[in-house]
Amino acid sequence: MTDYQDQIRRRREEILSRVDAALTRAGRSWSDVKIMAVSKTVDTGRVLDAIHAGYRLFGENRPQELVRKLDALKGAPEAADIRFDMIGNLQTNKINAVLGRAACIHSISSLHLAEAVSSRAARRLEQGELAAPQPVLIEVNVSGEASKSGFDPDELRSCMGELRELRGIRIEGLMTMAPRGDKHRARETFAGLRGLRDELLAAHPALELPELSCGMSEDFEVALEEGSTLVRLGRVVFDPSFELE
Ligand SMILES: *Cc1c(COP(=O)(O)O)cnc(C)c1O
Repeated sequence: MTDYQDQIRRRREEILSRVDAALTRAGRSWSDVKIMAVSKTVDTGRVLDAIHAGYRLFGENRPQELVRKLDALKGAPEAADIRFDMIGNLQTNKINAVLGRAACIHSISSLHLAEAVSSRAARRLEQGELAAPQPVLIEVNVSGEASKSGFDPDELRSCMGELRELRGIRIEGLMTMAPRGDKHRARETFAGLRGLRDELLAAHPALELPELSCGMSEDFEVALEEGSTLVRLGRVVFDPSFELE
């Protein structure tokens, strides 16, 4: 085993024990929580190291890179049951590249993008090239920072009805990013996402939004305390020099 493989394994043990502690504090169980390894800054070799360490879910923020890594891992026996999600900004001219390849697109940040993904997916479904509607999450700008993309909460309240009508996508939940470097605001952001989810469920009978994708290297424990079902971890997984508090 290389030093790096040893480090990524030991780091995983530390992450799992912190996840476990956060879930215990919140009275939650492991069954509804997934840990994503965000592999956007590392090459395929390190993804393989992460697979060997026990990760099964990966995230990429660029379509070309997601497809490149999926192709590179094709046929590798250890990669048989792994999944890649698209977590970064998606331009409409890149939708076709990730349709059906990204297990879930976390970054549906506008009605326009949702419609564009849905119409392309619907066409592929008709042609028998896609087995099921594309799973997606709706990205919400809960914190209201101008630098962040995503639906404004009010905007989402008013167009959830339209989003639900889109036949080419299956909306599995909500995603957000918290302001950096401020645990208190991060907690408010995650709690805000959960509150919005509860509101939408109350307003739309039969709607299901099981997934709350939130929490990154600096704030995943807070996110889990506030109901996150999927934490997206980059540096803490892959960078041995990242310091956990
Ligand atoms: C890079 C990235 C992450 C992971 O960030 P870290 O702080 O390295 O854990 C999570 N989500 C998205 C959308 C990202 O782009």
